Amino acid sequence: MPAHGVLHGALAYRSELPLTPGALVRVPLGSRELLGIVWAQLDAPPADLVLAQIKTISSHFDAIAPLDTAWRRLVDFAARYYQRSIGEVALAALPPQLRELDMVQMAKRLKKRANAAAHSVVVDTTKNVALNDQQTLTLAKFSKNKLPALLFGATGSGKTEVYLHAVQALLESDPLAQVLVMVPEINLTPQLEARFSERFGAASVVAMHSGMTPAQRLQSWLAAHIGVVDDGGARIILGTRMAVLASIPHLRLIIVDEEHDPSYKAQDGARHSARDLAVYRAKLHTDAGQHCRVMLGSATPSLESWQACEKGRYTRLEMPLRVGGGALAQVRLVDMRLQPPKTLFAPALLEAIGQRVARGEQCLVFLNRRGYSPVLACNACGWKSECPHCSAYRVFHKIDRSLRCHHCGLTEKVPRACPECGNVDIAPVGRGTEKLEEQLTIALAGVLRPDGSPLVIARMDADTTRLKGALEEQLAHVHSGSVDILVGTQMVAKGHDFRRISLVAAVNPDAALFSQDFRAPERLFSLLMQAAGRAGRDAAMLGAQMWIQTNYPEHSLFSALQKHDYPGFAAGQLTEREQAGLPPFSFQALIRAEARTQEVAQSFLQQVSEAAHALPAFAHVTLYPSVPMSIQRVADVERAQMLVESQSRAALQSFLSDWQVVLRESKVKGLIRWAMDVDPLAI
Ligand code: ADP
Ligand code: ZN
Ligand code: ZN
Repeated sequence: MPAHGVLHGALAYRSELPLTPGALVRVPLGSRELLGIVWAQLDAPPADLVLAQIKTISSHFDAIAPLDTAWRRLVDFAARYYQRSIGEVALAALPPQLRELDMVQMAKRLKKRANAAAHSVVVDTTKNVALNDQQTLTLAKFSKNKLPALLFGATGSGKTEVYLHAVQALLESDPLAQVLVMVPEINLTPQLEARFSERFGAASVVAMHSGMTPAQRLQSWLAAHIGVVDDGGARIILGTRMAVLASIPHLRLIIVDEEHDPSYKAQDGARHSARDLAVYRAKLHTDAGQHCRVMLGSATPSLESWQACEKGRYTRLEMPLRVGGGALAQVRLVDMRLQPPKTLFAPALLEAIGQRVARGEQCLVFLNRRGYSPVLACNACGWKSECPHCSAYRVFHKIDRSLRCHHCGLTEKVPRACPECGNVDIAPVGRGTEKLEEQLTIALAGVLRPDGSPLVIARMDADTTRLKGALEEQLAHVHSGSVDILVGTQMVAKGHDFRRISLVAAVNPDAALFSQDFRAPERLFSLLMQAAGRAGRDAAMLGAQMWIQTNYPEHSLFSALQKHDYPGFAAGQLTEREQAGLPPFSFQALIRAEARTQEVAQSFLQQVSEAAHALPAFAHVTLYPSVPMSIQRVADVERAQMLVESQSRAALQSFLSDWQVVLRESKVKGLIRWAMDVDPLAI
């Protein structure tokens, strides 16, 4: 069903016993029985219903405490703000298994949790690291101020240690307090979970991310909901964006690490921003009577959060120095215009990598494209490996000689000859991480490690980490030093505390300099700065470098990067955004439509756009013309979008909630679905 087909308001049921709002129940709906949450208790049936028609709830999960007020307000808010139904948001926030289990099965799961508590271990505080002055001052400033805090700390400045101490201070001061720690990606959770478990005991910590099985997710959810460790609860909830909607009744502190990361924005469902909801959630818990703080951390904050500091809405905590006084990597630009055409690696870069490896140091090389090459082409007739179902090329993966569409997943064996003209000479064009790995292996064939053994190159991207446990294993190899060169996509550039990397290289970051997306420079700057931050994390390792191969070495983004000048870069970007009336100086929403043909998708958007003229808030918004999405067709579905913008968040919100009604009522033949994206990150 289309997203708007979901039931909208709450439904009325009767109960013999009084139930508190937030209680979990099972209710009949049509011929089925479903999980429900008591949203409000009414003294009389709703005006449009006759008492006799109201069904009775089937059962009540009285072994599970009701969901608290702050949680329900959060769901309410998220539903309103992102223009979805409360039911959809609430349901998405609960673990899938909760919907399927009956009272008996549930009781078993709860017993399992209670048993888990019996095995809880005592925390070993001897593992604590003494904070340095910069970290101590930061924590002091954080505890004095009540505003949301932005920890602007250089890569390797010891932000994680600040989080750990903030958590510890809170847990010690309040025996019930719970903490939510969010990280952008699953691949960052194992390392962080290990650090928190070591410090606070494994029993206090639970993880929450999409890589877990439904059974594990239910256990984590219950642990967070129960809270008290002796009852099988958890005090520290560590997760990805989904964790922001977990039930955490005694939530007193939320930490959002790498807050700038685009993966905090969901790309389906309500498309919520977990970072923004975290800030709002802290306020809700505070309003509900328990003071709750929020700390966002990043070396390259989002321009939204940076601007909030400039305006005094957030406090900025600064940690410019690296732990142990290590220097940030020196940024070197390689002018690729001076290299022969099609050069993959400048000779100077190869030489630098070779020297590092020979000295026993590690290097990291990244390129934002997995596979061997982005397209396979026939030199005779011009055939290209287009996906028959998408407006995109299928990527050549040499390892299993397949052509894979990264949008719809279509995978086929590489044809022996050109499917159009029969020419056997079909060749890869361009490069991905697989080719990078191959080329490096060839180019550095003679290089030996200090012990005389041949160098080891490993690749890490979505292809090599698909299998369960593969990622952890690969990371362990890098940490242990058995890998000399790590090749990968941006996955490798984020967050990891690699100790022996002294050189990082971005092979070809230019495309992002000229993207039509106004956020592309912000993303590129933070990616490069984060990547540079992987080098020289051990202060004893001198001469850390970040190499960037580019055709535009004079670009201002690179000069800011060379100075490690995020504030300067941010100021420049904010000025440009202000002049162009772009976020954070305006507020946006996208409406996307999908249909079998582009005409249908666009005619739906045009129709609802015309209908919008009659809405009261129309005068305060700008509706742009509908356009095809940049990847126009995916899996044989045509996609179009339309941008709505306003100087006022309130006006945009009011417009969207009225428009929502229009959208739901509009019928266009052949339309598959539509969806709204509030505060979209990619235009
Ligand atoms: P960030 O998150 O800011 O990039 P981390 O918190 O990962 O930095 O810290 C970088 C490294 O410094 C880690 O290995 C960490 O254990 C170490 N570290 C952090 N604070 C201290 C401290 N006060 N004393 C000694 N080592 C520290
Ligand atoms: Zn051909
Ligand atoms: Zn496809």
